Amino acid sequence: MTELQFREIINKSIESQLNFRNHWKPFTTDSSLVIEQQKAESILASLEERLQNNYPFFHPSYAGQMIKPPHPIAIAAYVMAMQINPNNHALDGGPPTAAMEMEVVEQIAEMFGYTEHLGHLTSSGTIANLEALWVARSIHPNKSIAFSSNAHYTHKRMCEVIQSSSKEIDLSNLELLESELRKGTIGTIVVTIGTTGTGAVEPLHKILPLAKRYGVRVHADCAYGGFFMLLANDNDPIVSPEPFLSIKECDSIVIDPHKHGLQPYGCGCVLFKDINVGKFYKHDSPYTYFTSKELHLGEISLECSRAGASAAALWATLQAFPLKSNTGLGTILKKTRRAALKWSELVSSSSSLIELARPDLDIVIFLPRIDPFSASHVSSITEKIFSTGMNQSDSPVYLATYTVDSSFIANLHPTFIPDSPVTKVLRSVLMKPEHEQFVPELFRKISAIAESLI
Ligand SMILES: *Cc1c(COP(=O)(O)O)cnc(C)c1O
Repeated sequence: MTELQFREIINKSIESQLNFRNHWKPFTTDSSLVIEQQKAESILASLEERLQNNYPFFHPSYAGQMIKPPHPIAIAAYVMAMQINPNNHALDGGPPTAAMEMEVVEQIAEMFGYTEHLGHLTSSGTIANLEALWVARSIHPNKSIAFSSNAHYTHKRMCEVIQSSSKEIDLSNLELLESELRKGTIGTIVVTIGTTGTGAVEPLHKILPLAKRYGVRVHADCAYGGFFMLLANDNDPIVSPEPFLSIKECDSIVIDPHKHGLQPYGCGCVLFKDINVGKFYKHDSPYTYFTSKELHLGEISLECSRAGASAAALWATLQAFPLKSNTGLGTILKKTRRAALKWSELVSSSSSLIELARPDLDIVIFLPRIDPFSASHVSSITEKIFSTGMNQSDSPVYLATYTVDSSFIANLHPTFIPDSPVTKVLRSVLMKPEHEQFVPELFRKISAIAESLI
């Protein structure tokens, strides 16, 4: 979309406010609300100046954190709805955006393969996970919530909030997991589909049968990786399909449209497989059986006020980019995944860089190939590559650094010397479709910097 078209659709969304207001009798804005045009312009000029001090999240040279701007259609829809400012805490806060929320949540539930669901949008993945853990604790009040050391750091914190005990557990070691489950002290396992650090997909399809055998709930934290579900049903999928295809067996799911769903921040989503968990929210009648059509939004959300504009933005985005593999969002995700595969291939054939492990999604972790190949040396060169890339005067490159346990590297690379408990490595998140074309240039720049430093 060119800039001109963007300006046009934004203007349309601003004009729509006049059409809305024209349904009612005009009135004069109170003098207490009036600011002079000149003052408003000068405030916005100062804001613009302050905002210059940001990284170029929009640009393919930015491959650092999981940040990119929303799609213009999401921005226009958000602005259009936000001027009315509906509140999706309850139906009368804005019936149209409440209806849109139900529609988009249904589309997401269908994407995962839920045949029935209870769910809603949230302000974030953290809040969505909090709800799932809160329900999990209500079902198994005296048992622990378990997750791996790679789970998002907020799970442990939220266990403290809901006063549930938690347990860190290695989810790649199924024997160990089973011996823990046999003890009967774990009530819920959180499985991460796309860890925040490395984009690793935990072996959900292997964990689920064990969890079922021991009557343990499974929560899928798909905040980052959830939309890669779209690629799992392809004939020749470019993600490992098994974990994705078993998400529908999980008791609850969290996904963040504000990560891979082209949305502005303020858009997470939680889904429950058993709609009857609605009873935990509804305090006045805890034993009623609910159908998914009876309980909505405010009644089944921990949060009260939520932007109806978020639902409008996601609704409009999914109209333009449906949840399909060969069109819409699937096309975008395929490009990001192929960018990571290409990046991974280039790094593994490089004489100056080593990839840590094959990427499961679109995040690639790599480190300088140096002698001595020790934790302290790798950390120091990593820092240098990171800052040199970012501070290049002509076309800088933005990566991120990431800290991993040195023992983890040593297990994968026997020549590695773990002279410090943790090692800083390089991390690139290739979450823009333009990255597919941009990866060779990114690689050329980064490997040139690495070669000059080693
Ligand atoms: C980002 C993320 C979260 C937290 O979500 P927020 O929207 O940042 O609050 C939780 N889990 C995983 C796996 C994530 O990637």
